[in-house]
Amino acid sequence: MKDPLIARERMIEEQLQSRGIRDQQVLAAFREVPRHKFVEDYLKYKAYEDYPLSIGFGQTISQPYMVAIMTEALRVQPSHRILEIGTGSGYQAAILSRLCSLVYSIERVSALASRARKTLDELGYFNIHIRIGDGTLGLPNDAPYDGIIVTAGAPHVPEALIEQLNQDGSLVIPVGDQSLQDLKRITRTPEGVKEESLGGCRFVKLIGKNGWSS
Ligand code: SAM
Repeated sequence: MKDPLIARERMIEEQLQSRGIRDQQVLAAFREVPRHKFVEDYLKYKAYEDYPLSIGFGQTISQPYMVAIMTEALRVQPSHRILEIGTGSGYQAAILSRLCSLVYSIERVSALASRARKTLDELGYFNIHIRIGDGTLGLPNDAPYDGIIVTAGAPHVPEALIEQLNQDGSLVIPVGDQSLQDLKRITRTPEGVKEESLGGCRFVKLIGKNGWSS
């Protein structure tokens, strides 16, 4: 990779703004977070390309546009506490941490959680709490959350996650079979739960008690 700053700016223009990402705070977070620090050395030259990349353990760091569309859909405010399911590389958590006060992120693969923790510490992103465990159960001890984002594909919406949302909070989650999912935004409103479809997507599996069994 030649100059990460130039690659990052191109990614923002050509992959995010050109496809309709308009939230200036979200775009500023993408400008700030050095995505190449979240991939292994041999993949750094591809860090700003328009696709997901392997992070080992059969898992991926998501395509930049998918991270952007999910982040924008959460409507994050500076005072918010956000829960992420699926820490992976830590990149999505890093983007969220620039937009809100506190991020909780759960990962089931402990080696990924440790690597993400190290990357985030090196960058000085200290408002992120990483936990190891089954995120399909949420994180009840620190609930409720102003937003919950699931970065793996679920067979159905885990009820526990809706229960851990604050009033007016949204859950953004890919739901479907293992090859294709629908990105859903589920919002807790005074009138009840409102569900919106944000389009098709393809994620690795959400594995756990309220997800896929393996
Ligand atoms: N958000 C990540 C990033 O920014 O790099 C990408 C996440 S990757 C597409 C999906 C992650 O979800 C994997 O790291 C996988 O191990 C994790 N995962 C799958 N099922 C999980 C569960 N039940 N609880 C927590 N993490 C889970």
